[in-house]
Amino acid sequence: MRDKELLSVVERFSRLLLLKEVGVNGLSKLRKAKVVIVGCGATGSHIAELLVRSGVRNLRLIDGDYVDEKNLYRTTLFTEEDAAKALPKAVACANRLRLIDHSVMAEPVVDRLTSSNVEELLKGFDIIVDGTDNFLTRFLINDYSVKHGIPWVMSGVEQWYGNVWLIHPVGSNPCLRCVFPKLPETVGNACNILGVLPTAVTMAATISATLVIKHVLGLGGEEGLERTLYTFDLKRSDFYKVRVTKNPSCEVCVHKKFRYLSNDFSHEVAQPICGTRAVEITPPQKIRLNLKALANKIKVGRVLAVSEYSVKVKVTPEISVVVFSNGRAIVDGITDVAKALTIYEAVTGIKLRDS
Ligand SMILES: [Zn+2]
Repeated sequence: MRDKELLSVVERFSRLLLLKEVGVNGLSKLRKAKVVIVGCGATGSHIAELLVRSGVRNLRLIDGDYVDEKNLYRTTLFTEEDAAKALPKAVACANRLRLIDHSVMAEPVVDRLTSSNVEELLKGFDIIVDGTDNFLTRFLINDYSVKHGIPWVMSGVEQWYGNVWLIHPVGSNPCLRCVFPKLPETVGNACNILGVLPTAVTMAATISATLVIKHVLGLGGEEGLERTLYTFDLKRSDFYKVRVTKNPSCEVCVHKKFRYLSNDFSHEVAQPICGTRAVEITPPQKIRLNLKALANKIKVGRVLAVSEYSVKVKVTPEISVVVFSNGRAIVDGITDVAKALTIYEAVTGIKLRDS
């Protein structure tokens, strides 16, 4: 590092460097740490921001969704402008992180994490951060984490409550499936739309980012950080530390069965998105779209926004479609899968069904 650069880093982080647990060595560890964040919605993007402000600068951001006005009340990093442009959350997040620290290497990946891309997308990172809202993806991350011995931080938030846990399933440490052997009942059927308090999101993000920092700094091993679930209830102002233990018959960390890595449980061409009135369309074949050209020839609906990453089309007053450059799309305002496919085909001109 050149002298001038070094001086600017020392100045920027002078108050962080004063912490005896951090110092020059700790800051150097944070600057070198490679962090992958799965899900850049309210929780994931806030964790990303806190990590970058704490000195982390190597991040991959994975998210298949776009910024919508409905997200803004609980998201600290995104703006109305991001929503008006229908920017992918991963791209909006990376853009904002570079404004906080120009030296940040934030790589956006506009896709969902699935069993088909998990090995490629999570490879080479020191720690994985869960910014998702579903257990299917968490089970997938957990399989990967156990198989490769890579730690991950789980965080779940709903209503006034949150759970956060640094999972490092090596030795006698438990994994997620030691505590949740099966998918919770609500997954895949009920899909209840629950409210969430913005401060519950930021609370969970703060605890998650702190756990990442402590892990990178090598703190907390003695206090059993990896065997502690942090849980809070902001309605009652209660905070707990729950001791979690290894299940001696765990399918994943004991018997090494990684069925979420080998089966894609969520990869239909069209499927409703849990907890929303939207359908996600994922073409089975690889597609590369020129979105500006597509926007110019759209005959159905009105183009609201177009960028190199996404195009947003208003189809009816209630229904809009956002198409990404890899052909994936989110049809918002509808839950009927067949109708969503019809709208997708009409907007993009791409046929996904035999007629
Ligand atoms: Zn386990």
